[in-house]
Amino acid sequence: MLYQIQNKFRDEPRPRAGLIRAREFVMKDLYSFDMDWEGLDTSYSKMMQAYKNICERCGFPTVMIEADSGAIGGKESHEFVMVTDSGEDEIIHCTCGYAANAEKAELNKGKVEGGQPLPIEEVSTPGAFSIEEVSGFFNIPANATLKAVFYIADGKLVFVVIRGDLEVNEVKLQNELKCIELRMATEDEVIEAGIVAGAASPVGISGFKVIADDSITSGSNFVAGANKPETHLKNVNYPRDFKVDIMTDIARAHAGDSCPKCGGKLQSSHGIEVGHIFKLGTFYSEKQNAFFIDRDGHSKPIIMGCYGIGPSRLLAAAVEQNHDEKGIIWPLAIAPYQVYLCPLYLEDPEVASTASRLCDTLTAYGLEVLLDDRDESPGVKFNDADLLGIPIRVTVSPRNLEKNSTEVKKRSEKEPHLVLLDETVDRLIEMVRGEGPV
Ligand SMILES: [Zn+2]
Repeated sequence: MLYQIQNKFRDEPRPRAGLIRAREFVMKDLYSFDMDWEGLDTSYSKMMQAYKNICERCGFPTVMIEADSGAIGGKESHEFVMVTDSGEDEIIHCTCGYAANAEKAELNKGKVEGGQPLPIEEVSTPGAFSIEEVSGFFNIPANATLKAVFYIADGKLVFVVIRGDLEVNEVKLQNELKCIELRMATEDEVIEAGIVAGAASPVGISGFKVIADDSITSGSNFVAGANKPETHLKNVNYPRDFKVDIMTDIARAHAGDSCPKCGGKLQSSHGIEVGHIFKLGTFYSEKQNAFFIDRDGHSKPIIMGCYGIGPSRLLAAAVEQNHDEKGIIWPLAIAPYQVYLCPLYLEDPEVASTASRLCDTLTAYGLEVLLDDRDESPGVKFNDADLLGIPIRVTVSPRNLEKNSTEVKKRSEKEPHLVLLDETVDRLIEMVRGEGPV
């Protein structure tokens, strides 16, 4: 069951240079309410297809990607993103078809050859603080080290451990910690917590929540801090030498990293998010007491889906994709008018009456016609027609009428075609309804 309930208005997020934007962000929301999970799957796939159709009719290629359901919650979520350099969202993708939002993207972390676990060894490392300095000191790659990073999650310090060559993805971390506020700890906060900055490690530490990226299990005999100034430990092995509270994937994927599906090289692109769909499940219905009595007489939570599409984003994306140096080329499905009716030399009574008759007939057939009845030169009218980008231009002029014809031109094409006056209406209806040729 699909049920549309509201429109939302939000402030626009940070703009990127070159991106066309509407001043307001109109969000079209739609929700589905089902009795069972199969019903949700059906509603979800119907909406997915509808969104694919909308994007196709708007005239731009869209990638559907796995996305982070973030603050909205729920189980599964997909984003519809138009790939363009001026987009503000980063997408990580691969030639094998893998694609995900940078906030959610995974990477193949590989194996690091460290050999059989050896006894821990303490080494004095004067002047070695950063991962670069430590790997230089020991003459080992960054992926043979463990890095400690500190965050404040809802006011509490969290100890994060990740392989030295990787970076923490804060969105993944926040989702794992289920916290509302997350930020990096300041140097003062780290020192105040009794941690030795530049030589911190989970070995022998207590009193903090420790969350580890699963990359720390990809090898053995890592170099890590010793929790003593300018000192490090060789041959640190998990779980022999330390425990963690959460072990999961919290690493950020970058272009050039290895693809989690095929092992190829990941690429990064930018895009405009135009739609987002979520399987909410019972996340909100349980909280809101939205239950129903099933056939078996039991009370069960309604199973929900949520579907959003941004009409103003769609317009921006359509223009990004469909324009030339003269202006916009609107796709027919979303054009403000379908036909730009352009009479030249309106003082000629035959031109005026033909244009007026064409306008009335086309309108009667349900076509959306913009009649340019200004007293302007052909050059001005044609330039404005290009700038406005209405998909079909029809010119009525004394010269064409002598040939008992009109001139029909698609905005996307360079040359006009002569069409017999008697056939003009039929031809335009065909073009608009079936997108037929001129
Ligand atoms: Zn791949």
